[in-house]
Amino acid sequence: MVRHVYDFTEGGRDMADLLGGKGANLAEMTRLGLPVPPGFTLTTEACRAFLATGGEPAGLWEEVSAHLSALEASAGRLLGQPDDPLLLSVRSGARFSMPGMMETILDIGLNDDSVLGLAKASGSERFARDSYRRLIQMFGSTVMGVDASSFEHALAVLKGSRGVRDDVDLTATDLAGLVETYKDLIHRETGEHFPQSPADQLRRAVLAVFESWNGERARLYRRREHIADDLGTAVNVQRMVFGNLGSDSGSGVAFTRDPATGRPGLYGDYLPDAQGEDVVAGIRNTVPLSELERLDPASYARLRTHMETLERHYRDLCDIEFTIERGTLWMLQTRVGKRTAEAAFVLAAELADEGLITPDEALARVSGEGLARLMFPRFDASAAGTALARGVPASPGAAVGAVVFDTARAVRRAAAGEKVVLVRQETTPDDLPGMIAAQAVLTSRGGKTSHAAVVARGMGKVCVCGAEELTVDTGARRLTTADGTVVEEGTVVSVDGSAGAVYAGSVPLVDSAVIRFLEDGRGDEGARGVVDAVARALSRADTVRRLEVRANADTPEDAARARRFGAQGVGLCRTEHMFLGERRKLVERMILAGTDAARDRALAELLPLQRQDFAGILEAMDGLPVTIRLLDPPLHEFLPDLTDLAVRIAAAEARGGEADAHDVDMLTAVRRMHEENPMLGLRGVRLGLVVPGLVAMQVRAIGEAVAGRLRAGGAPRAEIMVPLVGDVRELRLVGEEVRRVLADVSRESGVTVDCPVGTMIELPRAALTAGRIAEEAEFFSFGTNDLTQTTWGFSRDDVEAEFFSAYLDKGVFPVSPFETLDRDGVGRLVGIAVAEGRAARPDLKIGVCGEHGGDPDSVHFFHGAGLDYVSCSPFRVPVARLEAGRAAL
Ligand code: ADP
Ligand code: MG
Ligand code: MG
Repeated sequence: MVRHVYDFTEGGRDMADLLGGKGANLAEMTRLGLPVPPGFTLTTEACRAFLATGGEPAGLWEEVSAHLSALEASAGRLLGQPDDPLLLSVRSGARFSMPGMMETILDIGLNDDSVLGLAKASGSERFARDSYRRLIQMFGSTVMGVDASSFEHALAVLKGSRGVRDDVDLTATDLAGLVETYKDLIHRETGEHFPQSPADQLRRAVLAVFESWNGERARLYRRREHIADDLGTAVNVQRMVFGNLGSDSGSGVAFTRDPATGRPGLYGDYLPDAQGEDVVAGIRNTVPLSELERLDPASYARLRTHMETLERHYRDLCDIEFTIERGTLWMLQTRVGKRTAEAAFVLAAELADEGLITPDEALARVSGEGLARLMFPRFDASAAGTALARGVPASPGAAVGAVVFDTARAVRRAAAGEKVVLVRQETTPDDLPGMIAAQAVLTSRGGKTSHAAVVARGMGKVCVCGAEELTVDTGARRLTTADGTVVEEGTVVSVDGSAGAVYAGSVPLVDSAVIRFLEDGRGDEGARGVVDAVARALSRADTVRRLEVRANADTPEDAARARRFGAQGVGLCRTEHMFLGERRKLVERMILAGTDAARDRALAELLPLQRQDFAGILEAMDGLPVTIRLLDPPLHEFLPDLTDLAVRIAAAEARGGEADAHDVDMLTAVRRMHEENPMLGLRGVRLGLVVPGLVAMQVRAIGEAVAGRLRAGGAPRAEIMVPLVGDVRELRLVGEEVRRVLADVSRESGVTVDCPVGTMIELPRAALTAGRIAEEAEFFSFGTNDLTQTTWGFSRDDVEAEFFSAYLDKGVFPVSPFETLDRDGVGRLVGIAVAEGRAARPDLKIGVCGEHGGDPDSVHFFHGAGLDYVSCSPFRVPVARLEAGRAAL
């Protein structure tokens, strides 16, 4: 028989798949001897079984009853016992933390009788009534499906009629009345009564948490975070402890270090006389932990000790939730805490310095994604002017957008292409779509641990929270600053999540400290910590990685920058960019040439220009390989648009004049070259075989550039790459021409010019016949953009707009295959080509030059596939270095 329930004393952190993160860590804390209210966990497996069949797995309830009896025995009280009830919380907890996305129900076991028992046993009727109304409110919305806002509305009406601002100012009598209002509300909306049986409450709450796995906002969050949909959630059933028993009680959230900067020192928020939900909801403003030290020094000291224990034990930044019940501290949750990119780097370096982790573990704890974030520009402080408001710097970065005051508008305006900043008093899980759509999130309430802060940090979204000077009027769609400035919806503001400031208008950007460091090897003083930490991570990565990292660069400037960023060569130099701009005329002349002589003249004019381009790049990459790809796109990309031309000619004729003769010739040419499906048309190697003189011109330009550099004492290492080869014979024909031209150049220049000739592998047929192709090719470079297009039969330019969002929604793939390499399909072709290519030519050099070369997940795949290098855009080079190092760990 499969077990579905584990006591907290039986589990541990290594059981997170089965017990969820929260359950596994509650068990771990229990085993470490920390004060955790006792309880048990229903497994994710039970959830999966329930979701699959719609029914509880056999024996589940018997197991729950047995664990409940043990809990009751140890408490000496029964669940919902009328004179002194044992109360429970029912808490969701999946494998990966999904803060606030699923449901938690507190105070299970209260009913019309036991609420009186609780009042007597606790000595506070107000507390008992408040707990009861909280239960009905949570149960009513989560389990019984009543709109949460109906309860909030009833609460607001009551507060209004009593003339009070805070929940805590309502009396026991007020709350007893509110309980009746709530019960009526539930009955009216559902035709059902709020269940009085504690056992029913427990069972229905558990099943509702299971079901919340498939709730809309949980699904949206998972898609955003790439969490699989079939994991299910565990459910934790735990004895309640009470932070809302007066001023010697309270709840809080804390981090063992600052999750925004990674610097040491306890960091957190505390709210006296409150249940934990109140802290994260940002309903009342919290106080810093230092305030707890003043209010209750003994609990604070204990909290510190426990947090030190946890950080040493997990060897990482931990965050925790705790509650103090009349001077007794209880630990309610811990996990390895989410952190900003900056904090991740600083923390990894510090923990390594403290000897808690090894340098390799430190490298494993940072990510290329995080590094990319640190390379984003920052606001230019000198141009910012005075801030409209300041708040808590909850999630760093610089964002500019038009303010909007609700999620629906954020989503709508962002979908229309506008950049928006979502402004709320505080956010709730319902704001998730708006947060995803917005550039930044700004709230007037809540601390670094509020919902807005936690979720934004997790998403890497800019966030300033708790900007208390702001009055946010959602109804009127405006906010007012401390000095009375009114900011209406649609006004552009700049949000600095690193400094915690908001500015009017669009503040100009400057390079980040990390970019400046990468550019010139120096950081600035202020950013020492993070710059040093990044430098250390990169140097460790360079030590351990096997993959080389090259850059895709078409200009000497890009090549030089890539080299400063650590590139070990150019993996893809596209020659088509050199055919644009001023030179377009020459290219047109070549394409339109009626005779061989006319074409040769046009090519001859292009030759010196190309040679100069190549010489510049070879100089910037002196001593390192530069892979130059022969012309790839269909020629009509260099000609005017068919419709534009036709319209121009028609317009001229309509005016009664003669159409421009050049236009008419051009129209004929454009019509002749028009292809329905240019991606699969006359391009790549096919051009070289069909357009006389084109390959020869390009190869001559390369050869002469190499010869020139050699004569100048340089060390040029050009490699010639032929695109879109599908059959070895294509490559053989071009290869013969290349060698002939290089021999000519050698003879003419008196210097031996020798360049390896290789090919791109970007058609399934090339991958499948790689053994044959390797007989001719001296190197392979996977063009994974085209290989993805041709393997899936997707046109990249069309699908992303057309149907990818539907495919992502329906879970066909969790992430676009153009972003992260599709291992099962495209990856399989890569594997075949590597194996067969190397079998035919053991020293075959193999790289990748598609967009995937700078994607962290794909870099790990290429490492595993045995490639020699990845090539990516210059700004991704540091990211690829870091990930190549992490892949080698
Ligand atoms: P989330 O996953 O959204 O953080 P939790 O399961 O942690 O949800 O529950 C939210 C809050 O409810 C907790 O922060 C805690 O303060 C409160 N809570 C949960 N269980 C208990 C309990 N046994 N006693 C007191 N408060 C609890
Ligand atoms: Mg929690
Ligand atoms: Mg291609």
